[in-house]
Amino acid sequence: MNEKVLAKECDRILETKKFRDYPGAKNGLQVSHGRTVKKVGWAVDADLESIRKAGKEKVDLLIVHHGLFWGSSALDRKIRAKRIGLAKRLGVAIYSSHLPLDAHPELGNSIGLLRALGLGKSKCKPFGVAMGRAIGWKVEGGRWKRRDLVKRVALLRCEPRPSRGSSFAGFATRVKIVAAGPVVCRKIGIVTGGFGDLDQVVRAGLDTLITGEADYPTEVKARELSINLILGGHRETEAFGVRALAHELKI
Ligand SMILES: [Zn+2]
Repeated sequence: MNEKVLAKECDRILETKKFRDYPGAKNGLQVSHGRTVKKVGWAVDADLESIRKAGKEKVDLLIVHHGLFWGSSALDRKIRAKRIGLAKRLGVAIYSSHLPLDAHPELGNSIGLLRALGLGKSKCKPFGVAMGRAIGWKVEGGRWKRRDLVKRVALLRCEPRPSRGSSFAGFATRVKIVAAGPVVCRKIGIVTGGFGDLDQVVRAGLDTLITGEADYPTEVKARELSINLILGGHRETEAFGVRALAHELKI
C-alpha cells in the first residue's frame, strides 16, 4: 500500500473530517512520495531529528502529532522548508493528526494516558473541549492519592519501547506538580499536551488536572483555586496516539 491509501485509512479510523483544528494544524498527509510503505514509524513532532531518524531506520511513513504547518512567520517557513526538504530527500512521507488523535476513544493520547495511569477501569466522561470537541476525560467515582498519581505520571518514562515501528518520542522531562488541591483526588481531568483551560476545570468540579504542561499564570491561578496540577510533559503525554495508530495500521 502506498502512503496515500494509508493516510486515508488513518483519516477513516480517526474520523478526521469531524474535527475542526487550530489554524495551521493541518490533519492528513503532509509529505508524500508515492512509494509502497514497508515500514511505519511514529514521533510526536515532525522535527528534523525525528525525520532524520526515520530516514536512518528506513521508515516510509512517519506518523506525527504535531505536523509541519504551525506558524507562518519567516522563521517558521524557513524551518518548515528544511523539514520538508529533508523528508523528501530521505523518502519519508509524513502523516499528521492533532486533535483527532488527542480525542480518539481507543487510540487517542488522552485515553492512552488515562490507561497508563491505571485509571482505565474507572468511570469516565468526555472532558476538555478544544475547538468545539472534547479531547480528554473526566475520571471520578474513586479515591486516588495524589502522591500515587504523581508517581504513575513519573513512571511513564519507563515504558518499554514498542516492538513494531520506530519510536522517536524521547522521555526526558521531569513531572511538575502544583500541589494546591486535596491529597486524595476524587475528580480528575486528563487532557494531554498543553491544556490550561481552568474555566472548564472549575465548571466540571475537578480537584485535579493531569496534562502535559501549563503556563505560569495557569499555575498561579490553580494554586488560588485549590486545584492540583500534575504536569507530565507535553511530549511525554502525547506519545500514546501516534504509537497506537502506527500499530493499528495494516501495511
Ligand atoms: Zn500537543
